[in-house]
Amino acid sequence: MMSNALSQDVVERIAVVQGDITQQQVDAIVNAANESLLGGGGVDGAIHRAAGPQLKQHNRTLGGCKTGLARSTPAFDLEKRGIRRIIHTVGPVWSDGDEDAPLGSCRDDVLLASCYHQCLELSEAEGLATVAFPAISTGVYGFPKHRAAKIAISHVLGWLAGHQLPQKVIFCCFSQEDADIYRQAIDTRQKWMSSRRQR
Ligand code: ADP
Repeated sequence: MMSNALSQDVVERIAVVQGDITQQQVDAIVNAANESLLGGGGVDGAIHRAAGPQLKQHNRTLGGCKTGLARSTPAFDLEKRGIRRIIHTVGPVWSDGDEDAPLGSCRDDVLLASCYHQCLELSEAEGLATVAFPAISTGVYGFPKHRAAKIAISHVLGWLAGHQLPQKVIFCCFSQEDADIYRQAIDTRQKWMSSRRQR
């Protein structure tokens, strides 16, 4: 019974929202950056524009970030909106090709899971209660969206089950279609969890 209650508590600590990640009211936002950490297109460009030029200046001192790892920085102009930190992570460019391979069986799956893990670890270390993630790697980097959502959700739920921080994780999807993919993946997982409880 204890583990059932815990599972439900954990599910209540995640939420899916549709919108611009720079507009979220959270302690930290995650950036799907590239290895230079100096800005790019997509969500990276939006975050750099909203944080202002100081972010790029600061990131020049960091010496980049390898794929699967993460770096935390101040939020600069985004601090006016209550965002304390930006956690930059570099997702894998989808290169395995076989979208139907078992989940977790390819290197890109492991690297994507590592991005989530590193961001959650930094959030905990910095005492950040609320964190918003974009759908890392699913834009220009071409990671299949359903597969990426399953990895994100299972990794975040697994982390939350064993950790107090962050208290809440928001999956911030830019499009309605992406938000639906996340909601469907959470729904499927909850059904799977309750079918296991009934055994
Ligand atoms: P990657 O290079 O990791 O694929 P992208 O920025 O190209 O990163 O895309 C990652 C995801 O971020 C995509 O789902 C894209 O639609 C989404 N995205 C783009 N701009 C924003 C934004 N302002 N807020 C939230 N998500 C965004």
